[in-house]
Amino acid sequence: MALPKFPDRFLWGVSSSAYQIEGAVDVDGRGPSTWDTFTALPGKVLGGDTGRTATDHYHRYREDVALMRELGVGAYRFSISWSRVLPDGHGAVNKAGLDFYDRLVDELCAAGIAPAVTLYHWDTPQKIEDDGGWLSRDTAFRFADYATVVAEKLRDRVRMWMPLNEPMVVTLFGYAVGAHAPGRELMFEALPVAHHQLLGHGLAVRALRAAGATDIGIANHHVPVWPASDSPGDRSAASLYDGLVNDLFAAPVLSGRYPTEELAVAMPGPVAEDLKIISEPLDWYGVNYYLPSKVAAPSAAETPTVIDGAAMPAGLPFDFPMIDGYPVTDFGWPVVPSGLHETLTTLKDRYPNLPPVYITEGGCSYHDEVHDRRRIEFLDGHLRALHKAIAEGIDVRGYFVWSIVDNFEWAVGYSQRFGLVHVDFETLERKPKDSFYWYRDLIRAQS
Ligand code: BGC
Ligand code: BGC
Repeated sequence: MALPKFPDRFLWGVSSSAYQIEGAVDVDGRGPSTWDTFTALPGKVLGGDTGRTATDHYHRYREDVALMRELGVGAYRFSISWSRVLPDGHGAVNKAGLDFYDRLVDELCAAGIAPAVTLYHWDTPQKIEDDGGWLSRDTAFRFADYATVVAEKLRDRVRMWMPLNEPMVVTLFGYAVGAHAPGRELMFEALPVAHHQLLGHGLAVRALRAAGATDIGIANHHVPVWPASDSPGDRSAASLYDGLVNDLFAAPVLSGRYPTEELAVAMPGPVAEDLKIISEPLDWYGVNYYLPSKVAAPSAAETPTVIDGAAMPAGLPFDFPMIDGYPVTDFGWPVVPSGLHETLTTLKDRYPNLPPVYITEGGCSYHDEVHDRRRIEFLDGHLRALHKAIAEGIDVRGYFVWSIVDNFEWAVGYSQRFGLVHVDFETLERKPKDSFYWYRDLIRAQS
């Protein structure tokens, strides 16, 4: 059955991020990032994979833009590598690095595709990390300076801007449990990382606007959190987790407050003043949705919780039982389209002043080389759930599929494939999957 009609001017897009696709890590003066360092440590990434070559998008971007043109998307969301533009994270600009994005943006505009830029998708310049990374307040200010450099070069052609992608994942996976770069295991002492990223977001929003950029948002990660049972223990574990993964990042941005007093007092700096910067009004709000989380009180069991192949440190105040009753992707993630609808209605309930929304990421990993019927079913289901939310009155303006090409999936390397286009990581040959043609036809039928 054909999908129902989406609103006029609904934006159909695809997304990616720098470290996951670019490769060329030491080309044209790029400085090292935390992901170069992290992937070089034994045992951190499955199979010892690194982003050294990735899909070699840095050299093949013209071919990738040609694929997107064939796909017919209205926008392409990609991220800029901070250390390509500023090898030390601050100070001297690397012209060759900035020029790469200048050429990419020109190529997109020539193809009629609107560039949507993320300034930070987890790849902190190593020099910035050496000075404390997101544990340091200075990083927020350096990030805003970097935003200015990029905006001055690209503001005339970039349609949408988002300083951050998923500050939750950097806080939790990067600094609390150590499954991602920079691999710190600070548990609750990682909370300042959330505050400094949020401050960096707010300062960058102001810097972008001051430099003449418009249409600014954020790409936040959202999960419906389901208590494993009605027991008080499970419910309170779920509500704690919900606060940490969802509202810790949404409430400061959308309402200028932390979700709880405990969280507010755990944050460093002049929190009340910072919140005024953090809640600088946005033109839109981006939601990345993949799957719900089921949460229980911590069990006494000896076996550690494993999330996407990474063992969580002992002592977390929650547990993650399996979600049964749904098909799963090849990554083992349950396929729950209604979770997208639930995410949006929950957000709107909690934040009645929610600006227009874009789904800045949604997608799935399946290993099928070309005939990826399950990805088509996944996207079809999620778009129906999205349409329902729109029909019920939530103002959603666009959808970006994660991802245009198979790429480096962080801690699990090249073992997971999220692309509409298959990449052979030996030859780097691109081959559109069935879902690519399905999405192309859908975009045509909708416009
Ligand atoms: C993964 C991240 C991913 C996120 C998306 C996490 O479990 O480790 O790589 O971005 O889930 O939901
Ligand atoms: C991240 C992507 C990642 C995807 C799948 C998102 O949370 O932004 O970088 O590849 O999830 O895990």
